[in-house]
Amino acid sequence: MLKVADLVRDYPEFRLQAGFTVGEGEFFSLLGPSGCGKTTLLRLISGLERPENGRIILNEQDVTDLPPSRRRIGLVFQDYALFPHMTVEENVGYGLAVQNVPVTERNKRIRRLLEQFEIGQLARREVGQLSGGERQRVALARALAPEPLVVLLDEPFSALDYGLRRRLREELRLLQRRIGFTAVFVTHHQEDALALSDRLAVMANGRILQVGSPKEVYERPESLEVAGLLGEANLLPGRVEESTEAEVRVMLGNVELVGIPGGKERLTVGQPVWVLVRPEGWTIHETGLVARVVGWEYLGHSTVYLVEGGAWSGRVLAGNGEEVVAVGQEVRLAIRPGQARVFARED
Ligand code: ATP
Repeated sequence: MLKVADLVRDYPEFRLQAGFTVGEGEFFSLLGPSGCGKTTLLRLISGLERPENGRIILNEQDVTDLPPSRRRIGLVFQDYALFPHMTVEENVGYGLAVQNVPVTERNKRIRRLLEQFEIGQLARREVGQLSGGERQRVALARALAPEPLVVLLDEPFSALDYGLRRRLREELRLLQRRIGFTAVFVTHHQEDALALSDRLAVMANGRILQVGSPKEVYERPESLEVAGLLGEANLLPGRVEESTEAEVRVMLGNVELVGIPGGKERLTVGQPVWVLVRPEGWTIHETGLVARVVGWEYLGHSTVYLVEGGAWSGRVLAGNGEEVVAVGQEVRLAIRPGQARVFARED
């Protein structure tokens, strides 16, 4: 449906280089920290910016040289950017009026969208009088009215508090599944990207580091950089004892840990490595690595223990109801099967 091929955009102090594809009906996210180039990428796809190099193919048509209005791309901006003094139906119909769609066809499409989004009763309201959820629906309906092939969403929840953001996120996902539009969603908020996406691209410094399903990218990061950008990462320094394609045995002091190779290159015996373990990848156990609890955070549904193990420190997630561990206490930590990834480390 959408193919971004070898795209390059150069600014004086920044270069964006990206390539990815999005399938029809897919919800695809671009996730990365502030300044990594997400907005630039969206602006290139929508045609608000021109690339130095590369092509943008939409439904097998090369749209790289077309102006924004001829690309069949819908946009949903931060905070929705609705026209405040227009009614809901005027907002939804705006793009159609700009395109000179005849009035009867225009009204038919507006009515259908208002029905699909269940906002027909709000048609004559000014958008200033709407709730957050209603505004989201109007913004989506407005973006979909000209029947775009892809809808680009630029951090639509950025200014919202946690409760509303979660509610709108669930609703966005349901609407997207029900109506079936193709979406490219930009965010620096990892929970949004994990919760919403069919697939996501993790970005940093103008590049895409990894593309995959939320589960793949979180559970099988291909680099320490991706692991650090998506979720919490405990890193334990060790040396390779034995290495096969499927498994690496690592010595950490006199304790042996078994992990899965994280990167693509085969690790060699004796090589210094980092063992990556997520906070939920541990169990507090009778055997294993010795660590001391130096603090804890109670999170309601779980507790995170802050631990120090000599050459490393980390965070260990424990479900509530599990044994309470006091600060200062020594614990032994075992890694759950399949929960450690091993990456090369500079000595
Ligand atoms: P945020 O989440 O903060 O919006 P982002 O990931 O969307 O960040 P971009 O807005 O795409 O990042 O910016 C990427 C980089 O490109 C930044 O370093 C920015 O300063 C630079 N940049 C963006 N637009 C221009 C421009 N018109 N001229 C020069 N540099 C620019």
